[in-house]
Amino acid sequence: MTVPAQSSTSSPSSLSSPPSSPSSPSSFAPRHIGPAESEQAKMLAECGYGSLDALVAAAVPPAIRVSGELSLPEAASEEEAIRELRALASKNRPMTQMIGLGYHDTVTPAVIRRNVLENPAWYTAYTPYQPEISQGRLEALLNFQTMVSDLTGLATANASMLDEPTAVAEAMMLMRRASKAKTSTLVVDDECLPQTVSVLRTRAEAVGIDVDVRDLSQGLPEEFFGVVVQYPGASGVLREPGFYARIGEAAHEAKALYCVAGDLLALTTVQAPGEFGADLAAGSSQRFGVPMGYGGPHAGYLAVREGLERSLPGRLVGVSVDAAGAPAYRLALQTREQHIRREKATSNICTAQVLLAVMASMYAVYHGPDGLKRIADRVHGHATAVADALRRGGVEVVHEHFFDTVLARVPGRADAVVAAAREAGINLGADGPDLVRIACDEATSPRIVEAVLAAFGLDGTSGEAGRAIPAGLERTTEYLTHEVFHSHRSETAMLRYLRRLSDLDYALDRGMIPLGSCTMKLNATTEMEAVTWPEFANIHPFAPAEDAAGYRELTDQLSTWLAEVTGYHSVSLQPNAGSQGELAGLLAIRAYHRANGEPERDVCLIPSSAHGTNAASAVLAGMRVVVVACTDDGDIDLADLRAKADQHRDTLAAIMVTYPSTHGVYETGISELAEIVHEAGGQVYVDGANLNALLGLAKPGEFGGDVSHLNLHKTFCIPHGGGGPGVGPVAVREHLAPYLPNHPQFPGAGPDTGVGPISGAPYGSASILPISWAYVRMMGSAGLTEATQVAVLAANYVAARLSPHYPVLYTGQNGLVAHECIIDLRQLTKQTGVTVDDVAKRLIDYGFHAPTMSFPVAGTFMVEPTESEDLAELDRFCEAMISIRREIAEVASGTWEVERSPLRGAPHTAEQLAGDWDLPYDRMLAVYPGRTRAKGKYFSPVRRIEGAYGDRNLVCSCPPVTDFES
Ligand SMILES: *Cc1c(COP(=O)(O)O)cnc(C)c1O
Repeated sequence: MTVPAQSSTSSPSSLSSPPSSPSSPSSFAPRHIGPAESEQAKMLAECGYGSLDALVAAAVPPAIRVSGELSLPEAASEEEAIRELRALASKNRPMTQMIGLGYHDTVTPAVIRRNVLENPAWYTAYTPYQPEISQGRLEALLNFQTMVSDLTGLATANASMLDEPTAVAEAMMLMRRASKAKTSTLVVDDECLPQTVSVLRTRAEAVGIDVDVRDLSQGLPEEFFGVVVQYPGASGVLREPGFYARIGEAAHEAKALYCVAGDLLALTTVQAPGEFGADLAAGSSQRFGVPMGYGGPHAGYLAVREGLERSLPGRLVGVSVDAAGAPAYRLALQTREQHIRREKATSNICTAQVLLAVMASMYAVYHGPDGLKRIADRVHGHATAVADALRRGGVEVVHEHFFDTVLARVPGRADAVVAAAREAGINLGADGPDLVRIACDEATSPRIVEAVLAAFGLDGTSGEAGRAIPAGLERTTEYLTHEVFHSHRSETAMLRYLRRLSDLDYALDRGMIPLGSCTMKLNATTEMEAVTWPEFANIHPFAPAEDAAGYRELTDQLSTWLAEVTGYHSVSLQPNAGSQGELAGLLAIRAYHRANGEPERDVCLIPSSAHGTNAASAVLAGMRVVVVACTDDGDIDLADLRAKADQHRDTLAAIMVTYPSTHGVYETGISELAEIVHEAGGQVYVDGANLNALLGLAKPGEFGGDVSHLNLHKTFCIPHGGGGPGVGPVAVREHLAPYLPNHPQFPGAGPDTGVGPISGAPYGSASILPISWAYVRMMGSAGLTEATQVAVLAANYVAARLSPHYPVLYTGQNGLVAHECIIDLRQLTKQTGVTVDDVAKRLIDYGFHAPTMSFPVAGTFMVEPTESEDLAELDRFCEAMISIRREIAEVASGTWEVERSPLRGAPHTAEQLAGDWDLPYDRMLAVYPGRTRAKGKYFSPVRRIEGAYGDRNLVCSCPPVTDFES
């Protein structure tokens, strides 16, 4: 969505609510902001300041400060916000959606909706980088991988991709890396989903890949590095079995790889891609119980045959062992990821779609293979009933073989048929004037079939429901044989399984997650409520615009607000993660240089401290990465920047800089940096992931940025979901606005001159936008500004309390940090052997999630408390860190050897306590150290996990149950 900021920053009419200041009793801000006024006063005193304003005036460079209020509607109360969201929802029109094209109606089992999607134990968890406290979601993700791997017939699947088109785009990149063919041609089936083709074109153009879309029955070109086939095709077609095998043979003959974009429900009933020679399979798991949500979020999937697993992009869960030798899960092959490999990473994907992957996996767990097959057969039966009735009524059915989608030829009548169906509350798909697409799904009923037939003017006394799967293409191999897909058939069993898994995990509903750069703040219940309302959940992304008028209003308002708070001109909400916003922003810069006749500008300067996604995104945008040094005090080295800008003056495309820096300080040189880069003809990309330190205080669009992405799953309260979903809007100044993402299937979703779609759906992960909408709506200008001030206060409070015990690595002007601070453990590690890992795991015994480890500086912790933690929790954390410092001192003084210290032994499990105990510290100290609460104590379910073992012995699907017998 592209909205010029000036179109409306005033209060839209539907938002005329009585004014309520952030301090009035019904106001939301004091619920969102943890420390009450009296607590803030204590914290300010600890930092040596008399007021929030004084602290912030000292911390934030005056040159970047904005004055005055943000132009936002007056803050609404929680009740008012819900009322307004209801009004917006009522402007949407959920219909029976039979448009197909990769989005299908599905029945979310209520037990999964309430206990996963609406359950903070699942949705407030972080990405499972601390595996010991993430065994529940790791198991759920391993189930997801096993499900995908079984259904596709391929060895290894990841968890997860952002949507189907981007999953296929990742497959494209993988095929190019892995293929030995010396060509840059990718062949794409003309039956591929149109949004997949569009996203492939956007992505391919930037990296010099030619996309050759063709009718594959007419043969393949001589040279290509990969081929993508849609299965079944977008029009519904299933081709004869030999076709799919022949494509594979031809691909392998040409040293190319073969990717099948497969529908998971269809794969329960047709041959698996792995059975006819596919090297990769990619697609969506949306129809496994995840509502369409106007396009997202849903989990995409990607699976590969044996031999390609180490090239697989994204997150991969694997099995390893803990310190006691028991099997335990953790993220595998982390060394492939961007935070380590940077510009040589396999992909820029960071935040994925964990919550939705969990839902889809639980759908398979609940239904089991038999249940899924029954659903598939029922869907297929409805489709064949439609086809039979059409034929009997004299309507031509184009494809003899199909799974769920029937293509009818009604010369000149397609629009009339679609209109008649709409009268009956049903959306069908039209392909030109002659063709109507009818996609059946889990929610299709005989009554719906009759109504569809009536739209063709036929009477629906349904005939025989035969089979329309080609002989030889029926699936004969087993899938989902693992016990987990057979054990939870009753709701009681399912409920308990979900509870058991979530009980293994630590999420925000247990305590603070002080992860620097991740902004783990409150995800308020009111913000979450609208997500599952049918008026938001049950809209197809390609439904007629009039069905989504409420969405349109909501996205317009949110875009306007985001433009206002960032100081930019236009915003696109399409990117469905920060990484995708980065790519969209860089593609806009690339297109801008091209439009100015400077296509040679392809150098992207990136400071050595940058987040790994920056470098990986630059490569995907076809740029060359040149690293800029940082000075000893953590700031970008402006002298080095000047030298590099000069050296690359003729080819400089951009700089990507995070502000405040990834070192957690407000660098004073930001405006000078922007001038240097602009002067050399480059554009300034300000990574907005740290916007939580800026809202209401400074605007990147005004202090030098040309473009930024924001992470709505950080600053704007979308929960992390255990590693996704996210939304990464891209915001630009006016000169870049013509190059924002757009969408060929949805003209209003971006500028005509745009770079093409960056995600499959016109508005990306639209159904979670109400969360951020509600946050801004309920905070208003004063609330957002206060939140920023308190976030800065909390970070400085933690820094002040911990600095007598640990060095705080970097500070900005007046010795202050921004919204996060880096605790340096390197000296202690050198002196005692106690590592960051030891401290991170020991924090689990104290009842905490560790801060960010070794980013951006190895051997350190980055702590971001956020504004949502109250003083008691901040103190509990500080005291745990101080108590751990005393334990380190005991190691230093020789009380314990580091190997046999509670630090190295952490985390300790309940099971361990019950067994033999020969450690030089007692059990009480092991599990109830410091002020650890006895009531509600969180126990890690496993001991420390050995990552390397699992990487050497890669297992990425569910291990047999016998592995867990002790
Ligand atoms: C989180 C983050 C990103 C990436 O965002 P995702 O949504 O995980 O893709 C990029 N840059 C910085 C500084 C971040 O903190």
